[in-house]
Amino acid sequence: MSSASDYDPAAMTSEIRLASRPKGWPSADNFTLVRVETPPPADGQVLVRNLYMSVDPYMRGRMNDVKSYVPPFQVGQPLEGAAVGEIVESRAAGLTPGDLVTSMLGWRGGFVADAKDVRLVSRRVEPHSAYLGVLGMTGLTAWVGLNLVDVTAGDRVFVSAAAGAVGSVAGQLAKLRGCRVVGAAGSAEKVKVLVDEFGFDAAFNYKDGNMAEQLRVAAPDGIDVYFDNVGGDHLEAALSAMRKHGRIVACGAISRYNDETPPPGLRNLSLIIGKRLTIRGFIVSDSLGQMPAFHTEVSGYLAEGRLRAKETVVEGLERAPQAFIDLLRGENIGKMIVKLTTND
Ligand code: NDP
Repeated sequence: MSSASDYDPAAMTSEIRLASRPKGWPSADNFTLVRVETPPPADGQVLVRNLYMSVDPYMRGRMNDVKSYVPPFQVGQPLEGAAVGEIVESRAAGLTPGDLVTSMLGWRGGFVADAKDVRLVSRRVEPHSAYLGVLGMTGLTAWVGLNLVDVTAGDRVFVSAAAGAVGSVAGQLAKLRGCRVVGAAGSAEKVKVLVDEFGFDAAFNYKDGNMAEQLRVAAPDGIDVYFDNVGGDHLEAALSAMRKHGRIVACGAISRYNDETPPPGLRNLSLIIGKRLTIRGFIVSDSLGQMPAFHTEVSGYLAEGRLRAKETVVEGLERAPQAFIDLLRGENIGKMIVKLTTND
């Protein structure tokens, strides 16, 4: 079948492997960059060069040797995650060189895979990295989470990690539904972006002082919905601020992902009873069937300029481990993306 002229399928590519399991916060020593040969594709397979890859908080959990909703990464093996790439050579029907595909084969420069392991997407979406963020898993997470608790006009919504990939989209979608939206984030710069660029009604820097007090000031009438990306002190403050019959979207608990021992419990959990609260946990991969409906709605907002998608882009596969660590530290605004180069 056909092949692109400027790429040697037998060329070497690079991949990042898990060198050791992090204890607490990950560090550069936990990762290793290895050059590997790319085999030629067999019948039914494609050779793909990755253009962008995603680093995501859930990957931290996969670095521990524990059973969860996704299997743990293995020491000595390449990491995995969402990626967008371009087909270089195809021996699969319906896929041709130059086609843009998404896959779960990130953390490497290129790969050979069966056609069923890649998903053809339109090249018209720019930047193509949007398939990893606002039009990908994190955008879908925001959309599914809001739908889970029927967020509607008039709801007072609080979003944590609000300047991140999921939070920034969740907050903006809630605004588009006619809600009053408050966000918490970890720097003055992020607070400014939340209000000036993402259109939040109020925002605060949770590092500035007492969480519950800052939330009371930002949401003086309390909150109907809490979109929880953080857990811990943020969840405790939200429970105190919830109005009767409030709903909590349990999306993530990033404040706990590097804990080496179980954290102390929340002191005010019993508020769930008197306030008649509902807490709904979810994992976005259960809702992949909703991707087309999500895509239609959200790409419409993007085209109309009613939704902003910000990205923090780091270049080069060798910088992916640091990008991942920086994501956990809060160095990103919007989706953290690694852009791969032709050397990768
Ligand atoms: P983000 O882009 O939001 O990046 C993570 C952010 O978390 C950082 O930028 C940082 O921002 C913030 N953060 C880190 N530590 C703390 C802390 N101790 N307290 C408060 N904030 C902290 O990542 P994503 O948008 O990809 O993910 C957001 C959340 O959603 C995560 O918890 C993730 O696990 C979850 N998630 C859940 C899914 C599901 O299916 N349920 C799917 C995808 C994501 P700051 O500077 O503001 O501290």
